[in-house]
Amino acid sequence: MRCPFCGDTETQVKDSRPAEDHVTIRRRRLCPACGGRFTTYERVQLRDLTVLKKNGRREDFDRDKLTRSIRIALQKRPIEPERIDQMISGIVRRLESTGESDVRSEAIGEIVMESLARIDTVAYVRFASVYKNFQEADDFEDFVAELRPPVVKES
Ligand SMILES: [Zn+2]
Repeated sequence: MRCPFCGDTETQVKDSRPAEDHVTIRRRRLCPACGGRFTTYERVQLRDLTVLKKNGRREDFDRDKLTRSIRIALQKRPIEPERIDQMISGIVRRLESTGESDVRSEAIGEIVMESLARIDTVAYVRFASVYKNFQEADDFEDFVAELRPPVVKES
């Protein structure tokens, strides 16, 4: 694994341990060339996924991109980082187990919304409003009613 600081390829693994209920291995690495320390994660990838976008284009599924959009929706929400990682792994496993290597971007958005609705209503609404880009408030309410997210009291 190449050192992200100096580019040296002779980095060493100092520590390996399972994370996220043993679906990932977390490795602490050290670069002897510059002394830099960094962490890598190893996880099973069942299949290579391609995202089929609305405009008809295809792109490789990017877990980091998915993670970023979910983290934005969950910003300042009281959800443990571990729980977020578990949710993301669950989403990816669902996508990988559809049996198709092409996944529509809408299908991904819907799985994300379902998952967010289960853990945090505020994050769910944030994500859904950006994702669906609703013009009409009525459309949005119909959509929320359709998915029936859990009611969370904020008092
Ligand atoms: Zn280095």
